[in-house]
Amino acid sequence: SYRKGGYHAVRVGDPFNGGRYIAQRKLGWGQFSTVWLAYDTRTSKYVALKIQKSAQQFAQAALHEIEILSAIAEGDPSNSKCVVQLVDHFKHIGPNGQHWCMVLEFLGDSLLRLIRFNRYKGLQLNKVREICKCILIGLDYLHRERGIIHSDLKPENILLFSTIDPAKDPFRSGLTPILERPEGGSLNGGSTTNMIEKKLKRRAKRAVANISGRRASLGGEALKSQRSLDGVDVRCKVVDFGNACRPHKQFAEEIQTRQYRAPEIILQAGYSFSVDMWSFACIAFELATGDMMFTPKAAQGYSEDEDHLALMMELLGKMSRKIAIGGAQSKDYFDRHGDLKRIRRLKHWPLDRLLVDKYKFSEADAREFAEFLCPLLDFAPEKRPTAQQCLQHPWLNLRTSTKNETENHSNVENLNVGMSSLRIKVGK
Ligand code: ATP
Ligand code: MG
Ligand code: MG
Repeated sequence: SYRKGGYHAVRVGDPFNGGRYIAQRKLGWGQFSTVWLAYDTRTSKYVALKIQKSAQQFAQAALHEIEILSAIAEGDPSNSKCVVQLVDHFKHIGPNGQHWCMVLEFLGDSLLRLIRFNRYKGLQLNKVREICKCILIGLDYLHRERGIIHSDLKPENILLFSTIDPAKDPFRSGLTPILERPEGGSLNGGSTTNMIEKKLKRRAKRAVANISGRRASLGGEALKSQRSLDGVDVRCKVVDFGNACRPHKQFAEEIQTRQYRAPEIILQAGYSFSVDMWSFACIAFELATGDMMFTPKAAQGYSEDEDHLALMMELLGKMSRKIAIGGAQSKDYFDRHGDLKRIRRLKHWPLDRLLVDKYKFSEADAREFAEFLCPLLDFAPEKRPTAQQCLQHPWLNLRTSTKNETENHSNVENLNVGMSSLRIKVGK
C-alpha cells in the first residue's frame, strides 16, 4: 500500500504543514489512512495526524470527512460533546502523491483494545453506564444538532481519553522539539526549503531518540492505567467520520460493519439516524459481556445475511411479516409469509435469559440491562428511542454494588455455534 496512490511513508521526526507538526510515532491505521501521534509546535500539544492515501477516491473521501468534521467542530466550540475535534487540515505532498491530512485531538486507546485488555470478560456495569452516557451524548449531538448519521459505530471507533497529559508528562522535557516556523515557506517541497527541512528533521530525531524507550510504551501505558478502570472517570469520544452521512445524502446502501449492522440495512429498507442506535446497543452488550452480540456466519444452505437475521430473531423474537417482507432484499431471505426461507425453527433465547444463563448476570442486573437494550433493538427503526430519549433512561443512573458484580461473568464458549447447529437447514 506504500506506493503511488497509497499511504504516505512517515519517519519519526518528519515535519508536516510547514514544520508545525512533528511525527512522533504511529498510533494506528485503517483502510484509508495511517494515523500518527504528532507534536504541535504551535500549541505545544500532542495531536493525532491522520494521513490519507493519495489516490483520487481517497482524496475525495478525505474532503468529505473534513467537511463533516468541520461541521462537528463548528457546533461544539467548548469541545464537550464526546465527538473528536478537528484541529486543522492540509495537503501534504510526498513521493506517493498528494495526501490530505487531518489533525485531530489526541485520544487514547479504543474500546476494542479495552475489551481485549479486559480479556473479553466484560466490564463492570457501572463502567458500561459511563461509557454509554458518553456515546449517547455524542450521538445526540450528531443526530439532533448536526443531522449526521455516523453509520460505522463500533468499539474500534470509540476512543478513550488519553491519560497522558502532555503538559504534565514528566518525560516531556527533551521530548518535544520546539521548532520555530520558518519564515515565509512551506516545508512540503521545493528545493529552497530542503535545508531547513533537513535541519528540522535532525533536531526532531535527536529529541525523539532521547526518549525512544518511553515513547514506545506510551500506548500500553495508557491502557494499563485504564485496564481495571478502578476509580477512573471513564470518558470517551466517537471518531472516524469517513462513512458518516446525512439522511438525505446517502452514498451507500450497505453501511456499517457486519456485527453492528441494523436489520434494515440487510433488508435494504432505507435507513436513518436509528441505525446508529442499533449499533450502540450492540456495543453496550459487548462492553458488558466481552462478546459481540451477533457474529453471523455463512454455512451450507444459508448466507451470512440470513444467519444474521436468524440470530437477531433468536434473541429478539420474530420480525413482523410487514417488516420482514418490506425491503428491496427481502425476497432473498423471506418467503411471502415472512418466514426465513432457508433457516427454519429458530431457538428463541431472550436477552435477559441469555445474560443470566450465559453471562451469569444476577436476575435484577439482567432484567434492567435488557429493558435498556431491547427498545434500541426494535426491528422497526422508527420505534427505536433516539439518543436524547435514551439519555433519560433510568438504567444509566443505576448503581450496581461492585462487590457482587466482579468476576460473575463466566465464559461459555461457542454457544452461538451450538444454537445454529440446532437449526433445520432447508437446502435449495
Ligand atoms: P477505517 O478503515 O476504519 O475507515 P481510517 O483509515 O478511516 O480507518 P481511523 O479509523 O480514523 O482511520 O483511524 C485509524 C486508527 O488510528 C484508529 O482505530 C485509532 O487506533 C487511531 N486513531 C484515530 N484517530 C485517533 C485520535 N484522534 N487519537 C488517537 N488515535 C487515533
Ligand atoms: Mg476506523
Ligand atoms: Mg474511516
